[in-house]
Amino acid sequence: MIAITGATGHLGLATIQALVGKIAPAEIVAVVRDPQKAASTLPQGLTVRTGDYNEPATLLAAFQGVETVVLISTSELEYDLRMRQHQNMIDAAKQAGARHVVYTSVVNPSPDSPFGASPSHFATEEYLRASGLAYTVLRNTLYLDIVPMLVGEGTLASGKLYSSAGDGQVSYGLRAEMGEALANMLTSKGHENQVYDIAPGPAYSFQDLAATLSEVSGQPVEYVAASGEDIAASMRQHQVPEPFINLLLGMNQAMKNGEFATPSTTFEQLLGRKPTDLKTYLASVYGK
Ligand code: NAP
Repeated sequence: MIAITGATGHLGLATIQALVGKIAPAEIVAVVRDPQKAASTLPQGLTVRTGDYNEPATLLAAFQGVETVVLISTSELEYDLRMRQHQNMIDAAKQAGARHVVYTSVVNPSPDSPFGASPSHFATEEYLRASGLAYTVLRNTLYLDIVPMLVGEGTLASGKLYSSAGDGQVSYGLRAEMGEALANMLTSKGHENQVYDIAPGPAYSFQDLAATLSEVSGQPVEYVAASGEDIAASMRQHQVPEPFINLLLGMNQAMKNGEFATPSTTFEQLLGRKPTDLKTYLASVYGK
């Protein structure tokens, strides 16, 4: 049996949807914290178990009889909490007798990265490697799906795209296709003790983003390089919560440093076709 944590989240669900049809649904253990959300979200026929990342006993019960655990990283932001939750899951997988843990990390994980999630991804990878379990680490790049959030609401009307990411380039990947690639990995052999960059080429700068946005929307948009302080001040004016401002500024700085510019062919190989590119995605969201 294969357990997928975060099963009612976007990536977990995309993985499950791609897995159904490849293996018997009852062999898929969907680990959820909210059974009601599971009932309205998940496909029929799965084995659904309750597991909370904060409660080791629930995870131990959820992973019984499971050979492979897919550990979808937590959506929490704070380092200590993220680490505790990830360690709870790895410890429970080991105690329950699982053989293999698949972890969704980030490209270029580093204890020194300004991107808030990166240090805990780095430390979780270390913890997993030290656990003695077989592992596969999928270092996911930023989702194409977050590009509308980066673009912001007033950009098409104002014709100005502001960011503090400078000329930094990013390889973006469609989240649903990352789930598909993950499902293909789970149902093929030779991935144990491997670390994969799930980051398609080419990588794009904010200039590229503005140019492509102009092309698909028919509205001229120019990139305006701004300082982190200016971006933060503008977000505060719009009452954006401070943790989100910090997350975005750190992410922009990591973009500027080139941390997300890691094009690799692994994503395409696992997916079995060319991943969706920026222009196709933007046309689906902003197309005329
Ligand atoms: P998501 O939709 O927010 O899913 C996160 C999942 O984690 C949800 O299913 C959530 O449960 C579950 N979860 C959170 N805390 C939990 C707890 N205490 N116990 C049990 N389950 C818990 O995020 P996603 O889009 O699928 O992305 C997966 C992960 O990638 C995120 O969690 C985050 O670490 C990371 N991420 C990456 C990017 C990127 O651009 N690469 C962007 C955002 C996030 P519920 O369904 O009950 O809420």
